[in-house]
Amino acid sequence: MEFSSKLLENAVNEMSQLPGIGKRTALRLVLHLLRQPEHQTFQLSDALSKVRAEINFCRSCHNISDKELCEICANPNRNEALICVVEDIRDVMAIENTSSFKGLYHVLGGKISPMDGIGPQDLNINSLVEKVKSGQVKELIFAMSPTMEGDTTNFYIFRQIQDYDVETSTIARGVAAGNELEYTDEITLGRSIIDRVPFEASLKS
Ligand SMILES: [Zn+2]
Repeated sequence: MEFSSKLLENAVNEMSQLPGIGKRTALRLVLHLLRQPEHQTFQLSDALSKVRAEINFCRSCHNISDKELCEICANPNRNEALICVVEDIRDVMAIENTSSFKGLYHVLGGKISPMDGIGPQDLNINSLVEKVKSGQVKELIFAMSPTMEGDTTNFYIFRQIQDYDVETSTIARGVAAGNELEYTDEITLGRSIIDRVPFEASLKS
């Protein structure tokens, strides 16, 4: 692609770093931004800089948060003995949308995937195991996507905590294999949490 401006080329190159954005789409987006009122483009770049520089992760559940403790963890009406283990922040958002879960979350930040070089040490697993050891948790609900990596991750965590006094369950698999939680409709996802099954029973099926 030949550019008449170095500035334009630079902006297109940066934009095309985003997932799913090729050079042509990047060019279309940059030209769109140039046609917009100037303040609108500055608001966008300001929001991106701010989210990058100022975002925090909750020290307890690793959810994205503006404060040290996220709003969910800080809410005294949530049941801290019930923890839903999820892969990433999008899963928290999806489950919160169902309004059918009143416990807390633990965001792992991914799933164990040897193919991608992601091992247990790359995920927020230790802090989860520590929570279980402290005795504050009565039940862990595994809500990972029903993929091989999700199952491997569940099983790894289960092995770490099975000697402690904690129940483990997994969300009902009405959700078709390979589906991501965030794409499941709210009613199905809400039901799958209510209809959760003991984790060990799910291993035999
Ligand atoms: Zn939190």
